[in-house]
Amino acid sequence: MENFTNFLKSLFLLELLKGMRLTGKRLFSPKITVQYPEEKTPQSNRFRGLHALRRYPNGEERCIACKLCEAVCPALAITIEAEEREDGSRRTTRYDIDLFKCIYCGFCEESCPVDSIVETRVFEYAFENRGENIMTKEMLLEIGDQNEAQIAADRTEDAAYR
Ligand code: SF4
Ligand code: SF4
Repeated sequence: MENFTNFLKSLFLLELLKGMRLTGKRLFSPKITVQYPEEKTPQSNRFRGLHALRRYPNGEERCIACKLCEAVCPALAITIEAEEREDGSRRTTRYDIDLFKCIYCGFCEESCPVDSIVETRVFEYAFENRGENIMTKEMLLEIGDQNEAQIAADRTEDAAYR
């Protein structure tokens, strides 16, 4: 009986007609396709994109080289070297993130006691040459400088929900 039913369905092209009915219903409804890159989907203020290191308003880098982010990173993507400055403060001499290893979990951001390492909303980036996957301290600080207004606004908004 089941075979006969299937035979009738294929004979009268029922599946095809069902598909065409669905197409017809959508034909004149508003389009939901996003025309990227001219249009973009909304982003959460907790979006986890490209990393950045932040500075205080006086220009001093926030990072105190405690290495918590390096320890917590499940992908072992962060490499830190540090030394003491003449004024006794501790700062990094090297802070690298290997973006090939990073899984964008946000643990580094969560673990940082001074809100230094963060993940920005930046997601449009690509690599063309070997080695460009390594984000150095200088590159991370520059991304932080470029996006500080958005980073600070996102944290203020986030704090309002906690
Ligand atoms: S986002 Fe996760 S995987 Fe990437 S550097 Fe931070 S802790 Fe490591
Ligand atoms: S970025 Fe934050 S968690 Fe990582 S070493 Fe610097 S102060 Fe510590």
